[in-house]
Amino acid sequence: MAHIINGVEAAAAVIDKVKSSASALQADTGVQTGLAVVLVGEDPASQAYVGAKSKMAKECGFKSVQHSLPADTTQKDLLALVDELNGDPSIHGILVQLPLPKHLDSEAVIQSILPEKDVDGLHVVNAGKLATGDIDTGLISCTPAGALILVRSVRGEDLSGLNAVVIGRSNLFGKPMAQLLLTRNATVTTAHSRTKDLAGVCATADILVAAVGRPEMVKADWVKPGATVIDVGINRVPAPEKGEGKTKLVGDCDFASCEPVAGAITPVPKGVGPMTIAMLMANTVIAAHRKLGKTAPKF
Ligand code: NAP
Repeated sequence: MAHIINGVEAAAAVIDKVKSSASALQADTGVQTGLAVVLVGEDPASQAYVGAKSKMAKECGFKSVQHSLPADTTQKDLLALVDELNGDPSIHGILVQLPLPKHLDSEAVIQSILPEKDVDGLHVVNAGKLATGDIDTGLISCTPAGALILVRSVRGEDLSGLNAVVIGRSNLFGKPMAQLLLTRNATVTTAHSRTKDLAGVCATADILVAAVGRPEMVKADWVKPGATVIDVGINRVPAPEKGEGKTKLVGDCDFASCEPVAGAITPVPKGVGPMTIAMLMANTVIAAHRKLGKTAPKF
């Protein structure tokens, strides 16, 4: 039986630290930490994510600003809003919810956010700092930052001598996750759709991180006995057992078969998912401390 890694508890611990850091910063400087979230269009999933982020920011004691723009917003207008938020001293973090409507150039929008306010950690300056091993002055992409906390909760701070395999090489998750594991001295392999013998590669992993977007792809015989398995996938699949037309969320790992083999494993939901929003709050309070010349908390 594997240890089930509780992402809800780990996220709550991060949020507690964010709240106390934000409140101490405000007591010290009189400045309230500020987060601006920008939503373009009416995609229901994006609306739900943005609503949850704004609500959590308020719970953390932040100034929380939400800009909801119509689906036909032009690139020029969106860039003008980012520019305004870049110049607003009461805003320490800016998040533009992705994906943007197809007519907008997401990359140009992300790169227009000041790196020190890029709390999603997607600006090339922040990605570059992580890639060069600087984890102290940039902002790190929220989901990998959260996933690393879960790995550390099982394996400790130093991953020397451990093999880690990350399946997926996206800029949002796979690449920064591999780089974070490397900063902790793990021996890291990044696997992807062109990897030969993926199952065999995964079976070498003491730490196996799956971020693919394919429901229950990782099976028990891909998992080394005792491995720490971090399942990042969020896939909605039909669940006829719950009734006609019902659906459920599953990860990229086949939890039922992997769990008896793994040493520790994250469930889906309630594993990596809650960490993403918690790390967004953490990045925002870090950004506020840096802006005010104060030592930022570490998570
Ligand atoms: P993505 O950009 O679509 O990247 C998927 C990666 O998986 C790509 O590198 C791709 O390889 C690889 N891949 C696809 N099919 C594969 C296969 N059959 N075998 C091996 N590798 C394969 O996705 P993402 O943004 O990284 O997200 C991945 C998953 O994590 C999704 O389920 C997403 O919903 C979830 N996610 C969760 C959170 C959270 O908060 N928990 C946050 C972000 C993402 P190629 O590069 O070769 O195409």
